Amino acid sequence: MQLDADVIIIGGGPAGSTAATFLARAGHRVLLLEKDRFPRFHVGESLLPYNRPLFEEMGVWPALAEAGFPRKTGAQFHLASGKKVTRFAFSNGVFTRHTEAIQVERARFDQILLEHARASGAEVREGWSVRGFETSTGGVSVQAQSPNGEVRSFNAAHLIDASGRANLTGNQQGLRSVHPDHRKMAVFAHFDGVARSAGEAGGDTVIVRDARHWFWLIPVSEERTSVGLVLDPADYTAHGRDAGAVFQRAVAASPLMQERLAKAARVGELKATSDFSYFNRRLADPRVLRVGDAAGFMDPIFSAGVYLAMWTGRLAADAAASALRAGHDGERTYRAYDRRVRRAMQVYWRLVGHFYTQPFMELFLEPRNGLQVPAAVVAVLAGDLEPSWSIRWRLECFYLLVRVQKRWPLVPRITFAPPSLAT
Ligand SMILES: Cc1cc2nc3c(=O)[nH]c(=O)nc-3n(C[C@H](O)[C@H](O)[C@H](O)COP(=O)(O)OP(=O)(O)OC[C@H]3O[C@@H](n4cnc5c(N)ncnc54)[C@H](O)[C@@H]3O)c2cc1C
Repeated sequence: MQLDADVIIIGGGPAGSTAATFLARAGHRVLLLEKDRFPRFHVGESLLPYNRPLFEEMGVWPALAEAGFPRKTGAQFHLASGKKVTRFAFSNGVFTRHTEAIQVERARFDQILLEHARASGAEVREGWSVRGFETSTGGVSVQAQSPNGEVRSFNAAHLIDASGRANLTGNQQGLRSVHPDHRKMAVFAHFDGVARSAGEAGGDTVIVRDARHWFWLIPVSEERTSVGLVLDPADYTAHGRDAGAVFQRAVAASPLMQERLAKAARVGELKATSDFSYFNRRLADPRVLRVGDAAGFMDPIFSAGVYLAMWTGRLAADAAASALRAGHDGERTYRAYDRRVRRAMQVYWRLVGHFYTQPFMELFLEPRNGLQVPAAVVAVLAGDLEPSWSIRWRLECFYLLVRVQKRWPLVPRITFAPPSLAT
């Protein structure tokens, strides 16, 4: 097989750019095929503090610092009524090694990352849409359509699928398994003039929780804020699948959201997307690795998607580099990658699963400092995907307290108004 590259990467989002950067900097020939032309809009704007060492290792931090993205030092969780709030400051977590993140407009952020991959030596082709792939004993072949419609094949020793929720290789092989309890919709837009907290907390991600849905507010520049509503598809359908109507109704039911949006003006249309959590049953096969959302996608409540994408991009680059050095199909290394990523994702899936239960929210909104349990939760929220034992046992304590709270209230119960989107 005549090889066009050592590694082909499908997709130039954060996962693909990260994998491309690490591989190219290690001296490997990388061909990255991206179907869109950048800059392009993308949802997912709140990052985690643990992204920072990755940016530095990739050498892209100076470009990101120069872009002047807002600083994020914490996250706030509010009840929609405005009656209860808690703020997690990353600097308060004694187990948290990195305490500051950035909030980004993804069009600019993704372009900086992709340009950095290109400058690091990867060949990046925009406007090329991959249609399918095949593996053989000698390598991998992908079929891609060029910007002028011609279809051609590219060959490489290894393939990294970073196609995001398009999930190209996972769908082609029927690997996608959707989480039964996390089938959501999201409706979102950018707004100017959204009210923010004073001082440093003005850069926080703000989560506003109602009975069956929740909002995010993410400051993406001095003036602009991303606002989104995550809800059940049934509630969306019950409002005639009218994004404007469902968004207005949810805002009208929340005194806190009304206050925040009182002087806000929407910039552009409201967008709607499905927000189904899923996992591919295999994250790797011989010669093929899946990274970021093409490995699995999780409800965005804790803003972990971009970090997971970059973390898996980095691990996949290491795994592919080691297979290339050894001159084999990577099977053993790739299985280890699969296990490690699955374990890390489980940490978040468990936390996300609990977020939708009332006892969890009751304790989450009233953190008590005994045994430093909140600090352990903060470390995971900051991006500690492979928590040490001292964090893990505290998390177990937290889940135990959630079970106790369900039957015997340790902190006051919260009451939501009747579901505001129910018809
Ligand atoms: C409603 C919502 C809110 C979110 N909020 C957050 C948040 O606040 N913080 C956070 O960290 N994450 C958030 N996420 C998750 C985040 O958007 C993703 O986890 C992240 O973008 C994953 O990066 P990726 O590189 O894997 O995929 P993507 O960023 O989706 O990149 C995939 C790329 O592959 C390209 N591609 C797709 N198919 C092909 C093809 N056939 N050929 C060539 N190229 C292709 C696409 O054009 C795209 O550029 C949110 C997600 C949703 C749905």
